[in-house]
Formats: sequence, structure tokens, C-alpha cells
Amino acid sequence: MALYAELHRHLGGSVVPRVLWRYFQRHDRELALRFPEYPGFEEFYTKPRDTLDEYLELHTLVESVQSVETLPYFIYRLIRGAYIFENLAYLELRYTPYLRTPHDLSQSQRIDRMAEIVEVVGKASQLPEYPIVTRQILCMHSRLPDEVNRAIVELASQMPQYVCAIDVAGGDNHYGDRLDEFVKLYAYARNLGINTTGHLYETPDGCHPQLLPYLMRIGHGIQIPLKHPELLPEVARRGQCLEVCPTTYFKTGTLQDIQDLKIIFDRCFDAGVDIAICTDNAGLHDMRLPFEYESLLTQDIIDFRQMQACQEAAFRHAFAWPYHQPPAEMLTDLLKPEPMPVMPVV
Ligand SMILES: [Zn+2]
Repeated sequence: MALYAELHRHLGGSVVPRVLWRYFQRHDRELALRFPEYPGFEEFYTKPRDTLDEYLELHTLVESVQSVETLPYFIYRLIRGAYIFENLAYLELRYTPYLRTPHDLSQSQRIDRMAEIVEVVGKASQLPEYPIVTRQILCMHSRLPDEVNRAIVELASQMPQYVCAIDVAGGDNHYGDRLDEFVKLYAYARNLGINTTGHLYETPDGCHPQLLPYLMRIGHGIQIPLKHPELLPEVARRGQCLEVCPTTYFKTGTLQDIQDLKIIFDRCFDAGVDIAICTDNAGLHDMRLPFEYESLLTQDIIDFRQMQACQEAAFRHAFAWPYHQPPAEMLTDLLKPEPMPVMPVV
């Protein structure tokens, strides 16, 4: 039985439209009035955007309702859906804890409240009835000052029971002029022994080779095989895995042609670069991980064997999967048919 690992999913974008709409109806009068009917909301929430910036704006809508009080509500539904509909055995959930703290507090007060958010997310993710191994990736953010981002790195090192890595979010086209700052933050994280991934080489304006050596996995990274294939051998040598989120690129206007996806996969396979297929913002996309696999198959982007290689790579590159093998291998013995009893000859 195939059970899957999801390595790149944002806490904000993972709320499916119906759960979010129902939350507005129950708890948020203003947003309930703005979206009185579900179909209109779904259309607004899931439609493709022209640019990555426009797409990322939607996160602010979800962030505005995800607070320390409401996070358990959303996370319960997220984990339940991931277990029942997506067959996830492992999930790394990423977000910027600072953006879930009360906006009316001072910066230093908000920094102090981040640990509480991490703890609430961690505890809410552990549901005995829907067991999935989960960890958090804390995202630094291109819009946040260095002091806050540094505090996020330090928090990651202080809470290893909940946090498995750090990331930088907010659009890889927005931190280029602060690259030295982020290189230092990543170097600091590696010194503290923290695992690293980062949104990088997602868009043509997000190609920053200086940051590449500090990442253990690359958030998206699709512009490497597309526009900078000369980098693939060193990516392979470092054992860096690309977190490819196929639906995203068509929702953000980054790719127009489905054949570009085939180039990404083909060049990575040829160069020996691992790919983990991920959903990024499953709720915003109205997409679930098994359908992401299936759609790549039916569109002839990858074949069955390549799909399985990506599924295995996801477990291999997971920062906190506690076993040496994927769960499918552990279940095979348990599920294989009993040998037929030998009938006595009469
Ligand atoms: Zn992302």
C-alpha cells in the first residue's frame, strides 16, 4: 500500500476552500458577508493569478484568521483530510510564526509569542485518530526585518521536538537586494545544526546562486533545469532535492506550457537530481497529493517508474522521517496474501 510524504505545504494555503468558507460563516461576520455563497468564494479563492505576487496576496487572507486561538480548528481539519483523502504518512508543514502573532503587539512582544504558536501547531498536529508523522518548517519572510528572521532561526534550534527545518518565503523575487542578509542567516542556521530548505529558483527573478550551497533541499528550484541546467551537476553532487509543486506554476503564471514540466523532470532525472513532488498550497489549488501524481502520469510528464522514484525520494529527503524505509515497504509483509493451504491428495 502506498503512503506518501509531503515535504512542501504551507499552513496558510493548505486550508481547503470549503473549510475556510465555513469558518467565515461560523466565526467571522465581515468575511461571511463578503462571501455569502460558497461557489462564488471557491471561484475567487482557487482561480489562477497572473503573477506570484498576486497569488501570495491570498495568503494574507488566511493568515488574518489563523491565530493562536483558531489554529487548532484549521489544523485538525488539515490533518484529518491529509490522513483520510491523501494517504499521508509524513507531513512537513511550513509557515511564518511571526505572522500568526497579534498584529497590535510590538515587534519584540510578537517575537516572544512565536514559541507559543509553534507549540500550539505542534500539539494540534498530533491526532491519535489520524496518525501522521508531522514536523514544522519555520519560514523566514522576505518582508520581515533581519531581527525577526534571526529570531525565527533561533526558535527553530530551540524547539527540535516540533521543528525540523527553516525556509525563506514571501516570493523569491523579493529578497535579491537583501541576499547577503539571508546568506548569513542560512550560514547561522547551518552552524546551529538546523536543516534548510528555501524558496529559490522558482521564478526567473529568483535565481540567486550565492544562496544555493546553504540549502539541503530547494523549494521549487525549477529554473535550474529550465534556465540554468549547467548547475545541475553540482546540485546532484550536493545531494540537494528539488521540491517541485506542479500546479503552483500554472496558478502563478510562472509556466504556461505543460511541456516545460517535462523538461524539468527529464533534465533532473538525466543529471541524477532527486525530485519530491509536492502540493505547496493544496487548499488554494483545490488539489491533493495523489491527484498531483496522477495528473503528471496522465499528461505524460513522467512514467510510472519515475513517479515511484519521486515518491521514494520524498521519504529519503524528509528531514524527520524516523525510519530507514518508506512505509510501503514496512506494510508489504503485513498485507501480502496468505499462501494457499496445500490440499491433501486423496
Ligand atoms: Zn511554497
